[in-house]
Amino acid sequence: MEQQTNELSFQETVDLYFNKAAALMDLPPGLADKIRVCNSVYTVRFGVRLHGEIKTFVGYRAVHSEHMEPVKGGIRFANAVNQDEVEALAALMSYKCALVEAPFGGSKGGLVINPRDYNDEEMELITRRFAYELIKRDLINPSQNVPAPDMGTSEREMAWIADQYARINTTDINARACVTGKPVHAGGINGRTEATGRGVQFALREFFRHKDDVKLAGLDGSLAGKRIVVQGLGNVGYHAASLLAKEDGALITGIIERRGGIFNPDGLDVEAVRQFMDETGCTSGYPDAQHTKDGASLLEAECDILIPAALEGVINVGNADRIKARLIIEAANGPITFKADEILNRKGTIIIPDLYANAGGVTVSYFEWVKNLSHIRFGRMERRQEEKRHEMLITELKRLSADTKLGWELSPDFTDAYLRGAGELELVRSGLDDTMRTAYQAMREVWHSRDDVDSLRTAGFMIAIERITRSYLTKGL
Ligand code: NAD
Repeated sequence: MEQQTNELSFQETVDLYFNKAAALMDLPPGLADKIRVCNSVYTVRFGVRLHGEIKTFVGYRAVHSEHMEPVKGGIRFANAVNQDEVEALAALMSYKCALVEAPFGGSKGGLVINPRDYNDEEMELITRRFAYELIKRDLINPSQNVPAPDMGTSEREMAWIADQYARINTTDINARACVTGKPVHAGGINGRTEATGRGVQFALREFFRHKDDVKLAGLDGSLAGKRIVVQGLGNVGYHAASLLAKEDGALITGIIERRGGIFNPDGLDVEAVRQFMDETGCTSGYPDAQHTKDGASLLEAECDILIPAALEGVINVGNADRIKARLIIEAANGPITFKADEILNRKGTIIIPDLYANAGGVTVSYFEWVKNLSHIRFGRMERRQEEKRHEMLITELKRLSADTKLGWELSPDFTDAYLRGAGELELVRSGLDDTMRTAYQAMREVWHSRDDVDSLRTAGFMIAIERITRSYLTKGL
């Protein structure tokens, strides 16, 4: 699991991916450098009084590119947070937003903290204080910088941040749009919690629609029965694994968590594993599976698809040549180092890259932000009208059938499904599905159209760089 010490930092890895793509493009002189660098990073050290003692915390908010505003990117709470990581993640956000056409620049934040060391009240105090420090510098603001959840944060923290912003900006009618990933009752949107995992599912479904690509990965058929190993059963990993098992018939054969991993070649019950982890805090002792203390060794297990959904640098020069999966989808940000990526490309492993694979989160965040700015739930105006029009058609079909004595019978399942107008959740899923399909098709077109584009990652970076370039050239520097 440990990242190899002779490897490049996360930021160097992202920069090298960028350079590789930029080298294949004809960009105006100097523009590649301007796009690649992180515009600014704010470091804040603040104190919170806990149990009569003042504890000092360190936090960051990096703004990578402001070619579009607001800039967007999650806030991570973890002990390992550092400036290099936050800058790398902010850069990935710029490229990700460009690739999926979410109209944002890239940003990312982080707080050095182990959330498990504090109770709920303490976490609220700390989060609100960190948010205050960012709000007063417009690093949280509906029109300038809009955070979202990331590792170690969830809708709970986003609700505190939104409330903190509203307390400071009492007359801002768009206050709720200052952060996304909020609970639905506090201005969030249906489908955001599952969005990144759902996006991974939609990405894989789109991949399997392209038989040539499936063949390149040495696979065939559909997702049904495919053996999948997932690392990280948190927000992204859990929803991806659960949806792929429930809705696509995939077999989740391995789950790797913080303190070990479990494997069952016949498939694990994702809901049961999640419940077991909620109760015990780990996977050790879970029945119906082999347990291994060295969870990372399961990355090398025999499987069809590997989904790293925890943290960066887990596939590196130390294990890349032993990875057996022919298809890897990067649900986490930066799970494969630059050198490991080269090794895997040489082996012919197909990698669905992070800037595309986990973009479901920011896509639905974009919908949430639009919902907050328009102050109305998606579907509220048109749903019943749509149902009425469908009802007219069904009535007419029934009348025709009776009048012409054709004896047609509409099946109750069809009638029910057809009569139901789309609510917010259906619309969010439809928008996400469309985004994931369109972005994959754009990437594969570039990938297959040029011999010098060796991977979906390089293709994805090229599309992103092209769009950011256009933005810069249109608005001027
Ligand atoms: P999370 O905190 O909800 O879950 C992370 C999971 O990984 C936890 O279950 C944790 O126990 C596990 N984990 C931590 N260290 C591990 C280790 N060494 N080995 C195995 N498992 C380990 O975080 P998340 O929101 O699911 O984010 C996971 C990844 O997805 C991150 O790279 C994040 O940047 C990326 N991502 C998240 C979102 C989002 O919407 N939450 C969006 C895009 C990308």
